[in-house]
Amino acid sequence: MTTPLIDPFARPISYLRVSVTDRCDFRCVYCMSENMTFLPKKELLTLEELDRMCTTFIGLGVEKLRITGGEPLVRRGIMAFFQSMTRHLESGALKELTLTTNGSQLAKFAPDLVAAGVKRINVSLDTLDEKKFADITRWGRLPQVLQGIDAARNAGLRIKINVVALKGFNEDELFSITEWCAREDMDLTFIEVMPMGDIGNEDRIDQYWPLEDLRARLAERYTLKDLDHRTGGPARYVELAETGQQIGFITPLTHNFCESCNRVRLTCTGELFMCLGQEDNADLRAPLRADQDSTAPLEAAIRAAIALKPKGHDFDYDRQNVGGKMTRHMSHTGG
Ligand code: SAM
Ligand code: SF4
Repeated sequence: MTTPLIDPFARPISYLRVSVTDRCDFRCVYCMSENMTFLPKKELLTLEELDRMCTTFIGLGVEKLRITGGEPLVRRGIMAFFQSMTRHLESGALKELTLTTNGSQLAKFAPDLVAAGVKRINVSLDTLDEKKFADITRWGRLPQVLQGIDAARNAGLRIKINVVALKGFNEDELFSITEWCAREDMDLTFIEVMPMGDIGNEDRIDQYWPLEDLRARLAERYTLKDLDHRTGGPARYVELAETGQQIGFITPLTHNFCESCNRVRLTCTGELFMCLGQEDNADLRAPLRADQDSTAPLEAAIRAAIALKPKGHDFDYDRQNVGGKMTRHMSHTGG
């Protein structure tokens, strides 16, 4: 038996998030600048290399894979990759294969995702207002995403809506979004905006709506019950007594969630980030390519990287300064 991946703070690493492309068909204002320069395609890991990477991590005890980006569903041929991961679900080595998407391509791909063994997906959606949606995503169109969500539900996928809490933008939709998710039986998670990458003229402090405040506003209308269950991830959950729905809060800024972190992130060029909020990373592409017949160099590089996983991030909006800011975009590491 191989020894599982355990980091220096005794956290078992069982969850890998994989960014399969840095490209996207949207330009959300908190995520990208309007004129992004993307990586040359030749820099990307091929789909076969992504398979080999993920298969090696699964061999080392990773049980959950989340495919993200950029927009994962705009990567050409990505369904072949999902299909290739099905064998690990069938063998039982992989417990969950999932993705985070902006929903634009779901109408096309939902049935294929289900066929590949995906059961639950996260769809990012910050507003239910068509005009505001076009403003925040710059290039996105709300009806296309809503059709995608419908197609995904019809195909049998369970959906979680991820909403980035944005001051002055979706504060007024707190209840309408909550009620929509309750009505449609979709899970809901709110996320605090994080200081990732240069986004042009937008100001992070202007965008930041602390979830403590959001939660207090929810409590004016609903009875909130804190739930104990944690997923090893950053979300904390409450249940609304009136609707029975569960709502997650991802609060990197107001709470530190690192103590139970079980995840690492692989970029589309094969860098492994041990923490979303730190710059340290390890190159896995060179060891992957070093030996076509054996994954031994790759396994050694993965173990060496996990041994460097830091205790936590340093994001901080204190005193109107954006501290701990990362130079890379969320679309690079995969949100
Ligand atoms: N394109 C897909 C999507 O939008 O779901 C997957 C990649 S996107 C980078 C993943 C998640 O990161 C989305 O929910 C998005 O809203 C979130 N995100 C992007 N930039 C962020 C930021 N600066 N702070 C907080 N969340 C961010
Ligand atoms: Fe694209 Fe997702 Fe970033 Fe929006 S949040 S620009 S959809 S990668």
